[in-house]
Amino acid sequence: MPAHPDLLAQDAQFEKKLHKLAPNVFSAVGYAASNVHFLVGQEGVIVVDTSETTQAAENILADFREISDLPINTIIYTHSHRDHISGATVFANGRDIEIIASDNFKSDIVDVDETIPHPHAAMMARTKRQFGITLSDDERVSLGVGPGKRPMKGMGAGFMQPTVQFGKTTQIEREGFQLELAKAPGETPDHLVVWWAEERILFCGDNFYHSFPNLSPLRGTPYREFDAWADTMDQLMAYEPEILATGHTLPVIGADAIKQRLTDYRDAIRHVITETVKGMNAGLDPITIASALKLPENLADKPYLQEFYGHIGYASRHYFSGTLGWFDGNPTRIAELTPAHEAARMIELIGGADKVLAAARSALAEDDSQWAMELADRLIATGASVGEARQVKVAAMRKLADLTINAMTRNYYLLYARELEEAT
Ligand SMILES: [Zn+2]
Repeated sequence: MPAHPDLLAQDAQFEKKLHKLAPNVFSAVGYAASNVHFLVGQEGVIVVDTSETTQAAENILADFREISDLPINTIIYTHSHRDHISGATVFANGRDIEIIASDNFKSDIVDVDETIPHPHAAMMARTKRQFGITLSDDERVSLGVGPGKRPMKGMGAGFMQPTVQFGKTTQIEREGFQLELAKAPGETPDHLVVWWAEERILFCGDNFYHSFPNLSPLRGTPYREFDAWADTMDQLMAYEPEILATGHTLPVIGADAIKQRLTDYRDAIRHVITETVKGMNAGLDPITIASALKLPENLADKPYLQEFYGHIGYASRHYFSGTLGWFDGNPTRIAELTPAHEAARMIELIGGADKVLAAARSALAEDDSQWAMELADRLIATGASVGEARQVKVAAMRKLADLTINAMTRNYYLLYARELEEAT
């Protein structure tokens, strides 16, 4: 099945390679969902981030060992997302090494307190779909900001707890490197960036990558601080970095190129905020606001603001619910009918389930896939023609998957389609 050509093109950057950023600094790109960075000193090595699987970490380490056989003495986590913390045991190699993170290092996926209610199971099911976990290599062509085809063995298995945590900007010296660690909230509140002034290299974690930022993942997440992420772009620019070692996608080289990207990222996030607020103040509902929202002309064509990973419409809807809540302002929604109740009445009004199924099938045939799904959902909700309706929905999702440039949307459609097929 052919994925969107732009999404396939985005994946071309994930050729497995240890990029040399300075004589003694390397970034491993293309081995894992995220990048792993090495700072090689006289007697030991610092690793920044560790990838999502022990298998990927082993592959990266094997290639790094062609460059240096020095021991890895320090690991720095830029943030707590699973794709950055799960290969630590491989790099530590059985030793109790120093592991540095921010003082609010905490993942909404990893650190689940079982004693309090938490939608963990829902999040896991949705995370699996977003990242296409268990899809075939042919189906999972991309993560948007990482290669689709990568080792899955040892996923989440190699995490080690931080041993040192910092609450504010801190200078450290390790292996001969004078580094500044600074809190820089963005994709997560616990982000830490690493600045090596001597070569003007900034390790920015997931605060910038080659895609529109993922302000609202389909897996579900607590509200992400849009303003904080935009403000952090100014904080990163203040370093005037010449090399940006990103947590995903290729590093960015050159002071001007970096400044342009960080400025555009900031402005894109602020644009989503401004336009969403305008819509909210005009009394519009979140779906209408999101469907009309586009980046302004000077940003719309920037290759690093395309929706390979983050999605402008999802971001807008997230901002709406995160700042104004679930209610769209329309009193009809206050005591809204349940989907099953609404569907039963709508199907009756239309003239019965057979008519609705026929309409869904012809919508599908005409590539009106969204409408086909909405009709199919009504049948599924009432239990009428469920098997046939599921078939329509499965086919519609597969069509939509091939049309989207957004990797998490593609993966979500494809895995959900398979789940529905297996349930039929
Ligand atoms: Zn990441």
